[in-house]
Amino acid sequence: MKFQVPRGTRDILPPDSDRWAEIEDQARRILGSYGYREVRTPIFEATELFVRSVGESTDIVRKELYTFEDRKGRSLTLRPEGTAPLVRAYLESPALRQETPARLCYLGPMFRYERPQAGRYRQFWQIGAELLGSKEPSADAEMIDLLVSIMRAVGLPNVKVLLNSLGDAACRPVYRERVRDYFGRHLDRLCEDDRERWKTNPLRILDCKIPACQPILAEAPSVLDALCDDCRAHFAAVQEALRALGIDAEVAPRLVRGLDYYTRTVFEVHAANLGAQSAVGGGGRYDQLVQELGGPETPSIGFSIGTDRLHTAAGGSRPGGALAAPDAFVVARQPEAASEALIVARALRGVQDPGEVRPLRVLTDVQGRSASSQMKVASRVGAKHVVFVPRDAGGFAVRDMVAGKDEMKQPDLDALRIWLRAHRAAGGESR
Ligand code: AMP
Repeated sequence: MKFQVPRGTRDILPPDSDRWAEIEDQARRILGSYGYREVRTPIFEATELFVRSVGESTDIVRKELYTFEDRKGRSLTLRPEGTAPLVRAYLESPALRQETPARLCYLGPMFRYERPQAGRYRQFWQIGAELLGSKEPSADAEMIDLLVSIMRAVGLPNVKVLLNSLGDAACRPVYRERVRDYFGRHLDRLCEDDRERWKTNPLRILDCKIPACQPILAEAPSVLDALCDDCRAHFAAVQEALRALGIDAEVAPRLVRGLDYYTRTVFEVHAANLGAQSAVGGGGRYDQLVQELGGPETPSIGFSIGTDRLHTAAGGSRPGGALAAPDAFVVARQPEAASEALIVARALRGVQDPGEVRPLRVLTDVQGRSASSQMKVASRVGAKHVVFVPRDAGGFAVRDMVAGKDEMKQPDLDALRIWLRAHRAAGGESR
């Protein structure tokens, strides 16, 4: 029997996994600099949490949940998104609830039973941030600025930012009826999915990508004409703040997004080189969600970035990857020196020093090869130096593999480690 990775999923292998870790490190650095702290929630939650938050009529809840019963018959679901679990965690933690606003973030896998296609997986990763407890336009602007800063940090300086407002509890229902009326008059010219959406979630028709539907969509009433005064002022203030931050946001009146909990501001960032699935990230304001999940009034806003697409948009991985080259390869001259090679390699990495944050990358042979075969391996893996064991009377013999220089001596382990650090391989940070 041959096993395969489950349909719609994939393995992230080196050197891609190196680049992924780098992207997540960069994102963590930016999130931290804006004051966002990580929350790690379980990968599964009570099914009801997603039905209540994401919305019963959304594609995610209707068709895409991975739901199962545990041994006690509880209905659990692999998380399809990160906001609802994070809000649940926030409501359960008195310490988090004391922070006003609470700036929180998450990184991890999400699960949606979607039709697999390029850029769309059944397990994918997201990097997300949530700002809980502010209704101010400056919170919206901070969120979008943070999103753009993460894009820049991973090497995407020119993403396109799309911006819209969906109105609030006062004006959205009115707009929704207007849209239902309008599409109701043109049902015969819409695709089957749209006719289905018309019954359950008419605003989602605005997001339809089928070419034949576009002429009808183009004439649909615009949400921007339907906003109440408060929502209009909020939207104008968000745009003003973004202009002040130098962020070029294009107003996209048909941007609706796939989750029910959004109110007012919604946004997406798109990368030009991603083809059909060009959205790298998106988010919006959710002023009612915390209340709907049983908490106090807590206007909030958040976004999530698809790590899979971020990796692709940022140019994928460098072949080989700079991380692969070891700083040193310890060669045992005789088979009896194999365990000394292990001991010396560990000491050279510096991993036993609790303060060491950047250990050296040091490899040894664990195949019982001859000394000359070990040299070939050292050269094949691109080791910058070879260290020979056992040490002889004058100390450790070292060969510079890059310069092809003859052996030199380092008197003891400490001197050798300091010397190797000073000659660390380019980009050679161990992971
Ligand atoms: P959403 O909140 O559904 O717009 O998701 C936010 C981001 O997650 C999207 O912009 C995508 O980059 C990413 N994403 C969503 N669904 C998938 C999927 N099935 N496969 C890969 N990435 C996804």
